[in-house]
Amino acid sequence: PIILSDKEFLNHEELHYPFEERGLQFGDGVYEVIRVYDGNYYLMEEHIDRLFRSVEAIKITMPYSKEELKGLLQQLLEKNQVDLDAKVYLQITRGSAARDHAFPVDVKPNFYAYAQEFSRNLPAMWNGGSVMSHPDHRWDWCYIKSLNLLPNVLAKQEAKENGCMEAILHKDGVVTEGSSSNAYLVRDGKVYTHPAKKNILHGCVRMRVEQFCDDLGIPFVEEAFRVDDIQHADEMFITSSTTEVTPVTHFDGKKITTGSPGEVTRKLQYAYEKDAGIPTAK
Ligand code: PLP
Repeated sequence: PIILSDKEFLNHEELHYPFEERGLQFGDGVYEVIRVYDGNYYLMEEHIDRLFRSVEAIKITMPYSKEELKGLLQQLLEKNQVDLDAKVYLQITRGSAARDHAFPVDVKPNFYAYAQEFSRNLPAMWNGGSVMSHPDHRWDWCYIKSLNLLPNVLAKQEAKENGCMEAILHKDGVVTEGSSSNAYLVRDGKVYTHPAKKNILHGCVRMRVEQFCDDLGIPFVEEAFRVDDIQHADEMFITSSTTEVTPVTHFDGKKITTGSPGEVTRKLQYAYEKDAGIPTAK
């Protein structure tokens, strides 16, 4: 693939980083994953805005304006002839410099982005899947989309080893979010999810789900729920740019009501598909 590196387009084999790179040594950087449907970016504004918020929070100076970055990302799709479904990964780190925890002086940030073909997981979206609870071992600033993903990686691996599609993270029993998704519970026709505070990532799909709920007259309640509340839930689902709106049918090995996707979840799934201009998952 052709990679966007700073403001240049390179063949991926030409992209080399020095061994003293702060993303590699400290996880000193942030990233985004943006979905592409039919050759068009979905929720591009939301992702770019969040990237700029993350970058500001860790005191990196963004080398581009938002408009400039959008133009470069557009060219990335053209150069790779991406006209189908894909995801674009972008990351920016503080740069390359002699290893020292404190910020190096006069260092230039390292930025790159690439597109990867990606297909929707239609069976999971249609049938739903199982999740398990897992302690949230992350720091207090998960609103920053940081490269430090070790707690997320370990939780996801444990989920995988237990035949689950996601680990639902909790702090002392209070559900924060998934290891790479936002988590929601439906009860008495209302959607509950953790408030968009600093300890969760403010998902771009989450923002959209709030809008869909408004449009559909479904109360969207930003109130954290507990692991114990899940056994009394009518429905559960997760969202992210890669999983869209995916129903959860089993939690810690137990069925959520009938063990099949719920009605409210389906409505939100259809709303997502309509908004993104994509066919119904079946
Ligand atoms: N929460 C975490 C921890 C994530 O890693 C992600 C995305 O990967 C999300 C939530 C969902 O964010 P978005 O909807 O912007 O993809």
